[in-house]
Amino acid sequence: MSNLFVRTLRENPADAEVPSHQLLVRAGYIRRAAPGIYTWLPLGLKVLRKVEQIVRDEMYATGAQEVHFPALLPREPYEATNRWTEYGPNLFRLKDRRENDYLLAPTHEEMFTLLVKDLYSSYKDLPLMLYQIQTKYRDEARPRAGVIRGREFIMKDAYSFDVDDAGLDAQYQTMRDAYEKIFTRLGLDYVICSAMSGAMGGSRSEEFLHPTTIGEDTFVRNASGYAANAEAVTTPQAPDVDDSDVPAAEVLDTPDSTTIDTLVAVANQLRPKDEPWSPADTLKNVVVVAKHPNGEREVIVIGVPGDRDVDLRRVEAALAPAEVEVATADDLKNHPELVPGYIGPTAIGPNSAKRTIDEQGTVSGSVRYLLDPRIARGSAWITGANADQKHVFNLVYGRDFEADGTIEAVEIRAGDPAPDGSGPLELARGIELGHIFQLGRKYAENLGLTVLDEFGKTRVVTMGSYGIGVSRILAALAGAYHDDLGLSWPINVAPAHVHILATGKGDDIFETAERLAFELSAAGFEVVYDDRARVSAGVKFKDYELLGVPHGLVVGRGLADGKVEIRHRATGEARDVPVGDAVTTMADILRADLAAHGE
Ligand code: ATP
Ligand code: MG
Repeated sequence: MSNLFVRTLRENPADAEVPSHQLLVRAGYIRRAAPGIYTWLPLGLKVLRKVEQIVRDEMYATGAQEVHFPALLPREPYEATNRWTEYGPNLFRLKDRRENDYLLAPTHEEMFTLLVKDLYSSYKDLPLMLYQIQTKYRDEARPRAGVIRGREFIMKDAYSFDVDDAGLDAQYQTMRDAYEKIFTRLGLDYVICSAMSGAMGGSRSEEFLHPTTIGEDTFVRNASGYAANAEAVTTPQAPDVDDSDVPAAEVLDTPDSTTIDTLVAVANQLRPKDEPWSPADTLKNVVVVAKHPNGEREVIVIGVPGDRDVDLRRVEAALAPAEVEVATADDLKNHPELVPGYIGPTAIGPNSAKRTIDEQGTVSGSVRYLLDPRIARGSAWITGANADQKHVFNLVYGRDFEADGTIEAVEIRAGDPAPDGSGPLELARGIELGHIFQLGRKYAENLGLTVLDEFGKTRVVTMGSYGIGVSRILAALAGAYHDDLGLSWPINVAPAHVHILATGKGDDIFETAERLAFELSAAGFEVVYDDRARVSAGVKFKDYELLGVPHGLVVGRGLADGKVEIRHRATGEARDVPVGDAVTTMADILRADLAAHGE
């Protein structure tokens, strides 16, 4: 500790909100270099290397082979797949001295595809699985929580290559099994969530989410074993209802009714009925902006039942690759038909008199209008009348207005039905640790990766891509393994196996502690030794607790009676052992702990 490059902090850094971020900075594992960009200090790098090693071991066990690509790449391959544009502002783009375009890779599908194309040409060369552990760059809109969402981060990305779908399925399953082993060895709880909306169908895509309240991803699950990312949950289209008894639509003055609650109150005054109006009787029209990769800001109106909120992440998933945000006053300026608080369907979408469609089929003159699938054709609504202080009653979908389509926009609630009919859903939050994805032939087609099959026929290769957020895993571990005092690592990822503290003044204390440190490291264990001379026992204990090495060995006052103390960081248990037995006792404990973690 007297020469370890670490400076522990007693206070939480101002920019750190979640415990894992606070503790990794305070314990001297990482240091911020720029927003979303972190430097790894010696302790952090030790843990990172151990996590990487576990990932490597399990990749090796599958037969996957490690390669290493540059992070700095030319534009052309990403142009061929349109991702140079599709990635939008998330891509770090740069130019060389000759003005050629380059990028810092956010992921490497293109390069792997081209490498295999470069070297392989026969079905006999397949199946193939390649991977790397490498630094990725994404100019994330919201870098967050230290290394959980960085703009530079470390990913393990693997890619499979097969001639046929059966081959892809087999390699996908192999990776899925390997991921289960990796997260089990890491001691991280995980849920495998379907990441694909039923609508996209066909190929498989699953995310490994680590349940935690600080997670950014919402996922759903139920007792029957259904689990999916909230973005992938689909809602069946509500069946048509009979509108023959619905009176004609009627515009009414509804003063000061810009919110659903005030509108419902006004409706109950104006048109009282036996069962009072409720938010579910209103059609809420929410204005969002889709920022397309080419820079276009498209204003879109989404109609949802008034008792439901719009979930922007679900909207974004539905409108990918566009990024989505709530519309600003500026966005509304060009759309006088969108009267804030009183927006209704009759002036927008296909209902707008201003809408034109040219010969190419390009729509202009009015915003797109999309509906939640819960809105049935034939259902009647109270909704905005496109004029200040006015709403329309009994406006019927299919009779009085149309939409441009449906969209999965509303937030999923506990109790909503699972799309596969398996029962009501529960909600939870998680961090995405990994993602496995059947890409199919898209990349191979765009980049011309083909092989000759046994009949000499040209076949487009089918691919899968399999990512793990290696640096993010550190944060997940720190989040799962800590207490009020500091970090508390499982032994197989800890920066060291045992932390020896010399507390007290006598030379014999320091000499004994140093001897124990040497003997334990000679026995093959990794030791942190707090040999600092003019540092109090209190400070040494605090640092031991903060750093989170799983086992402690304290050489202090008890030495006068021939005793040292053995501690366990996670449980806080402490007991004295005779100094003569210290090395064998500690070695037994460490061996048992390592064995329990499969090491
Ligand atoms: P997210 O939805 O969290 O933005 P993603 O779906 O874009 O992630 P993938 O492209 O599937 O991520 O990347 C594979 C893995 O890399 C993810 O499962 C995640 O663990 C990790 N990862 C992705 N983005 C980041 C980031 N900005 N910082 C740290 N790790 C990341
Ligand atoms: Mg993903």
